[in-house]
Amino acid sequence: SIPLGFFAGLGRAAREGILIKGGNYLEALNFPEIVVFDKTGTLTKGVYEVTEVKTKNGFSPQKLLEFAALAEGFSNHPVALSLKKAYGKEIEGQKIERFEEIPGYGVKALVNGLELLVGNEKLLKKNNIDFYETENEEGITKVHVAVNGVYAGSIVISDEIREDSALTIKSLKEMGIKNIVMLTGDKPSAAAHISRILGIEEYYPELLPHQKVEKVEQLIKQKTKKGKLIFMGDGTNDAPVLMRSDIGISMGRLGSDAAIEASDVVLMEDKPYNLVKAIKIARITRKIVI
Ligand code: ADP
Ligand code: MG
Repeated sequence: SIPLGFFAGLGRAAREGILIKGGNYLEALNFPEIVVFDKTGTLTKGVYEVTEVKTKNGFSPQKLLEFAALAEGFSNHPVALSLKKAYGKEIEGQKIERFEEIPGYGVKALVNGLELLVGNEKLLKKNNIDFYETENEEGITKVHVAVNGVYAGSIVISDEIREDSALTIKSLKEMGIKNIVMLTGDKPSAAAHISRILGIEEYYPELLPHQKVEKVEQLIKQKTKKGKLIFMGDGTNDAPVLMRSDIGISMGRLGSDAAIEASDVVLMEDKPYNLVKAIKIARITRKIVI
């Protein structure tokens, strides 16, 4: 049976918008040994602003944005939502004949008879599109667009770090947690930029969703028996990692139903700092119960 104090702890957490799916997870939050963060949408806002549009082969900037928004029609990825927002207009009369989302790459769609590719350099290479590789600028993400096999240009977007991300990392370190890790599907330059600002020494870029799972499995093997691995994500393509972690935490706003289902803790607000609060509540609860 669960001691009464745990119910008080769960209730207290719930009032802070931290939904913990049982006393065992609240208890487990007392032993954080490795904390793994997803980057986009978790430590960053995942709401990119378009800062530059560069066209090639005679396409206009407006057309480029329109193609990007059309192709992303069915995607809920932070990059997709940002492109649709930047396009601004309602998308009308489009005939999406085919749509494929390729996690870690982008999307491929057949819209109004046009074969559209929207995603990163890896997506272009995979589809043998001719384009010039450009220098890696720190802190930005480039979305490339190709139409019927022809490179049409790139859209530069940049993401912002969440207000409470730095404080979250600092507080976790002060709590004595030595292993703080960041995983991302983004490029090494983007990952280096964010981790340097936040003081995360260990990070792994360019991971596909299944490679994030493998990384978490490797990290779990490295920890002590008593210690727990906590994973925190925004819920986009995160369900497999959430399930593998000792304590899987997702932020509810962007999260899919699958991610919420796979999580042990759901944060109602998109605030990473609520992890620190959850650990504090776990500690207070333990003092009362034991
Ligand atoms: P993270 O691990 O940081 O959350 P993801 O694995 O979701 O990032 O995405 C990795 C990269 O794949 C993105 O930075 C982007 O370049 C590309 N990408 C993924 N989905 C899309 C999409 N729907 N449209 C365009 N690009 C995408
Ligand atoms: Mg993500």
